[in-house]
Amino acid sequence: MSKVLIILTGGTICMVRNEETGALHPASLTLADAITPELRSAHIVAEVLSFSPLIDSSDVNPDNWVRMAQAVYDHYSDYDGFVILHGTDTMSYSGSALSFMLRNLGKPVVFTGSQLPMGMMRSDAKENLLTSIEIAAAKDEEGEALVPEVTIYFEDRLFRANRTTKRNAEHFSAFNSYNYPALAKAGVHITYQPHLIHYSDPAKPLQLCDKTDTHVAILKLFPGITREVVHSVLSADGLRGVVLETYGAGNAPSVKWLYEELQESVQKGLIIVNKTQCNTGSVEMGMYETSINLLKAGVLSGYDITTEALLTKMMCLLGEYGEDTETIKTLLQTPLCGELTLE
Ligand code: ASP
Repeated sequence: MSKVLIILTGGTICMVRNEETGALHPASLTLADAITPELRSAHIVAEVLSFSPLIDSSDVNPDNWVRMAQAVYDHYSDYDGFVILHGTDTMSYSGSALSFMLRNLGKPVVFTGSQLPMGMMRSDAKENLLTSIEIAAAKDEEGEALVPEVTIYFEDRLFRANRTTKRNAEHFSAFNSYNYPALAKAGVHITYQPHLIHYSDPAKPLQLCDKTDTHVAILKLFPGITREVVHSVLSADGLRGVVLETYGAGNAPSVKWLYEELQESVQKGLIIVNKTQCNTGSVEMGMYETSINLLKAGVLSGYDITTEALLTKMMCLLGEYGEDTETIKTLLQTPLCGELTLE
C-alpha cells in the first residue's frame, strides 16, 4: 500500500456555477466516492487536506505558496507522495515557487487540476487526478520514489513544474514545457524518463525555505517603449529584482537612455535578469550588438528559464538571502533544481 496526501487548494476542478451570475467559483470536492474503487485496485490510500477557503488560483499569493509548502513539510514522513489540486491560471507560478521552497525534496509533489469541473460532461478532472495520484505513489524496486520532484501533470504529460507555462485556456493540454522534455507520458502505461529526472542528494534532509520578498517586477520591452515607463518601473519604491523581458536571444533597443537607466539601477543595487520573450530557446547576451549594452550595464542572463520560474526564484532568494546581493546574483545564474540549462 502506498499513501498519498491530496492537498486541495481550489481551482476549476472543485468549482460549481453560480446560478445568478453564471460564473464558476470554488465550492468543495468530495473525492472519496469519485476515486475510491480505482485507488483500491491500485493499492493506494489517499487522504485529503482541504484549504479553507478554497480559491481560484488567480487569488493565489506567496502566503498560499508557504501554506502549500508547509503542508508538504509537516506531513512529509507520513506519505509517499503529494498531489496538490490547484487552478491552472497560476499553477506554473506555484509549482515553480514550491520547487525552490522545498529544498532537497526526495518525494513526489504533483500539481494538477482540470479545465472542466469534476462531474461535468467530458471533464478532464478525474483522469488528471487519478494519474497524478499514481505518479505520486510510484516507486522503483528499491522503494525509492520514481519522480522526487515538484511536477505538473496535465492531460497525458508530466512536466518539471519550474519549466512549465500555461499555454491554453481551451484545450485539455493546458501546459507546456518549451525548454525541457516531459518527465513521463501517460498512455496505456506511464512511461517515465529517469535520465531527465532531477534527484536531490538523499543524505540531505528536506529543508523548508519559506521566506519570500515580493519587491520584484516584470518589465516587458516593446517597440516604442518610453524612458518614462522604464524609469517608473525601475524606480518603484523598494524594488529589488526585475525580470527584463527582451526580444529573441536577449536583445533590447540600443538607445543610450535605456543603457543609462539599466546601468544606474544596477549600480544602486537592483538585480536585473534578462529573460527572452520567446518561449523556446535561451538568452545569449553578446550574440547581437543589441544585447552588448545589457551586458555592459550589469544585466544578468536568465538563460532558458521561464518567467514564472525566474520571478519566483527571485522572490525566494531575496527572502532567504536578504541584502546579500552577490549570493543572490550567483544563485540566479545557477541551476538549483533543474529550472535552467547553462549551455
Ligand atoms: N480560474 C481557474 C483557476 O485558476 C482556472 C482553472 O482552474 O483552470 O483557479
